[in-house]
Amino acid sequence: MTKFYITAAIPYVNAKPHIGHALEFVQGDVIARYHRLAGDETMYLTGSDENALKNVQAAEKAGQEVRAFCTLHADEFVELAEKLSVQFDVFQRSSSEKHHVSSQELWKLCAKNGDIYKKTYEGLYCVGCEAFYTPDELNKNGECFEHPGKKLEKVGEENYFFKLSSYKEKILQLIESGELEIIPEKQKNEVVRFLQGDVRDISISRSKERAHNWGVEVPGDSTQMMYVWFDALNVYQSGVGFGIDEQKYKKWWPADVHLIGKGIIRFHAVYWPAMLLSAKLPLPKRIYSHGYITVNGQKMSKTLGNVIDPIEIIEKYGVEPVRYYVLREIPTTEDGDISIDRVGEMYSSALANELGNLVSRLAKLCEGSSIAATNVKTFSPAVSQAINRFALRGALDDIWNRISALNKRISDEKVWEKKGDDRLKTLNELVAGVIAVGYDLQPFLPETAKRMLSIFTEKTITQPAPLFPRLSA
Ligand SMILES: [Zn+2]
Repeated sequence: MTKFYITAAIPYVNAKPHIGHALEFVQGDVIARYHRLAGDETMYLTGSDENALKNVQAAEKAGQEVRAFCTLHADEFVELAEKLSVQFDVFQRSSSEKHHVSSQELWKLCAKNGDIYKKTYEGLYCVGCEAFYTPDELNKNGECFEHPGKKLEKVGEENYFFKLSSYKEKILQLIESGELEIIPEKQKNEVVRFLQGDVRDISISRSKERAHNWGVEVPGDSTQMMYVWFDALNVYQSGVGFGIDEQKYKKWWPADVHLIGKGIIRFHAVYWPAMLLSAKLPLPKRIYSHGYITVNGQKMSKTLGNVIDPIEIIEKYGVEPVRYYVLREIPTTEDGDISIDRVGEMYSSALANELGNLVSRLAKLCEGSSIAATNVKTFSPAVSQAINRFALRGALDDIWNRISALNKRISDEKVWEKKGDDRLKTLNELVAGVIAVGYDLQPFLPETAKRMLSIFTEKTITQPAPLFPRLSA
């Protein structure tokens, strides 16, 4: 049995989840479900990034204790996953004791290799990103590109530094050779350009005061806390036993895929591999980067008041239409747009009129005929290849082309007028086509696929209740 280990990025838990989180959870779920169905022993992990300063600030603002505040929001992410039919095997909170022990272990290994040193640092810090920036990395107002309008803090203190610069050549070579694969090409090129530039060592700790005494303590120095990214990336290891359960760790690590949003590519494709190389641990194999979701053409923001709560659209349209929307209407590796109305339009067109209609009209045509049940056991090569290239939308394009072709054949050949053997032969072929579609749809729309497979593998096919009932106005 082959193992397959995929991770989704761990969200900050300073607010409740939005539609962008739903997109990433669902994308990873499709890949994980595909591997489970293909017979791989599969692990799908995410968790919560709790040691960030912005969680502390958000908790203070809400007048709550930090841990309780993080628990409240972490639970909302777990709930969202359940509502989206996303099956995580591990949800690793970075405030857990095990994660702290594991991250200190990683730190010790990097220190042992001589890659951690102390230095006084002065720089501009974006609390939103939990990162230092140099002036040339900021916009014309001196703000970071991810958080325009937010003033950066000028910070000066003695910190620990990690020798990132020592690993730039090695990582560049790993990425260019494809040993560490980055999809899409655009993000790969961005990382390559960064590595070809002036790569500096990074600060990986901060004073306990600045961290509000919240986070993972630096081993051997009780005055310093780890920089949040140092421990956050290690969730991918701590969640599978690194520094805690050696046997479990050996079984799952390295990750086969890290699925992330494009804004955190540098952390995953540069900092993280460097930390692992320093600790002499195996590197992840692939990084898949997706884009951002805009709402009616605008960036989602609390100020604009256009943040879409995925649970609201699930309640309005059901879970599978929402999965369908984020997988098909949003380009897998690029930015895409959502509006609540367009989810409804897709529901009516692609789901009810194309797929739902195919299933109900074919089932009706099959009533009274004895159809030889087809037993499909593998994914179609086109769908497999698309999933393995992180082209989830491409896989659905292929499936929907087949749905259209089947609908067209029923109409063109006027199957309802056919008689005898000719009719039976045609129905058998159509049913085989629909079963193959149902099989391929399993990772994407698990409930719909299950219903399709059950309708057409019955001995006597009868017309089912509509897969996607007409929406009430
Ligand atoms: Zn920022």
